[in-house]
Amino acid sequence: MEFDLIARIRDRAATRDDVVLGIGDDAALLQVPADRQLVVAMDTLNAGVHFPPDTAAADIGWKALAVNLSDLAAMGAQPAWCTLSLSLPQADAAWLDGFLDGFLELAAKHGVALVGGDTTRGPLSVCVTAHGFVEPGRALRRDGACEGDDIWVTGTLGDAAAALAAMRAGAVSDRALRARLDRPTPRVEAGRALAGIASACIDVSDGLLADLGHVCAASGTGARVDVEALPASPALARFRPEQRWPWQATGGDDYELCFTAPAGRRDDVVQALADADGGVAAARIGLIEPGEGVCAIRPEGSVWRPASAGFRHF
Ligand code: ADP
Ligand code: MG
Repeated sequence: MEFDLIARIRDRAATRDDVVLGIGDDAALLQVPADRQLVVAMDTLNAGVHFPPDTAAADIGWKALAVNLSDLAAMGAQPAWCTLSLSLPQADAAWLDGFLDGFLELAAKHGVALVGGDTTRGPLSVCVTAHGFVEPGRALRRDGACEGDDIWVTGTLGDAAAALAAMRAGAVSDRALRARLDRPTPRVEAGRALAGIASACIDVSDGLLADLGHVCAASGTGARVDVEALPASPALARFRPEQRWPWQATGGDDYELCFTAPAGRRDDVVQALADADGGVAAARIGLIEPGEGVCAIRPEGSVWRPASAGFRHF
C-alpha cells in the first residue's frame, strides 16, 4: 500500500541531469556543482495549523513546496531538488494524485526534481526539504542590514491574512485573497536577482514586523516602517487602511521578500526586479536605524501599534 503510493509518486516526478539516483534506492545521489554552496531549507505543514481543513489537495501540494522555495529565494539560491515526507491518515490515491498535481506543477515551474522522501500513516502532515545552489559569498543573509539602508518588500502584503480572517468570521473570502493564501508565489527569481545587491533578506511568513524584527536582531539594528507604504493588492485596497494594516504588518503567510539595500542602490534594485520573472514590483517601506526593534509609523508621524506582532507557533 505504502509502496503503491511511492510508485505513484515516482512515476510522475521529473528528474534532472544532476540527479545521479532519485526515488527508489535507500537515498538519493546528487551532484552539487563544484563552484556552488548547497543551500538547504525544511518546512512542515500541519493540517488545521498551516492550512485550513477544507484546503484542496492540490493547493496543499503547491503550498508545501512554495514555502520551502520561498526560504531558498530569501537566501538568493537557485532551487534544484526537494524531498517529501508525507504523513497520511489513509492510503488515499485520489488525494495523493491531487496533491501531486499542485506540488509537481510548482516543481516544474522552477525546474526542481523530487528526489526522495518518506511515506507514513498518521495525522495529515507534509514536510518538505528543498535544496538549491548559491555562488560562494552571494547568499542573502539576515545579518547584513546597516544603518541607513532602505527596507523594501516585493509584491503586496496582507491578502492571505485577510482571507483567513474572512474564513474565521464565517464569511466567504474574496477569490483573489483566498488564492494568495492557498497558492503563494515564491519569489525565486527576485531572490536570485537581489543576490549581490541586497544587504539582508528574509521571506515574510510570520508577519512583516516579526520577520523584519529577525533581520534587525541578527544585524544589531533597529528599523522604522512607514505603515502607509505597505503595498496592498487591488482586492485588499478596498478595505480601510486601519482595517488592513494589521493584516499587512502582522498577518503572515505572504511569502514575499523583505530585504534591505543601501540607498545608493535603489536603481539597481528596481532594475534587477524589473528583469526578474517578467517584472516583480517592490515597495520601499522604511529605513534601518540605530537601536533595536521595529517601529511602525502612521502617515502623520505617530507610532502605530498592532494588536499582535505576528504568527507564533507555540
Ligand atoms: P526506506 O525504508 O529504505 O526508507 P522507503 O520505502 O521509505 O525506503 O522509500 C523507498 C524510496 O522511495 C526511497 O528512494 C525514498 O526516498 C522514496 N520515497 C518514499 N516516500 C516518498 C515520498 N513521499 N516522496 C518521494 N519519494 C519517496
Ligand atoms: Mg523511508
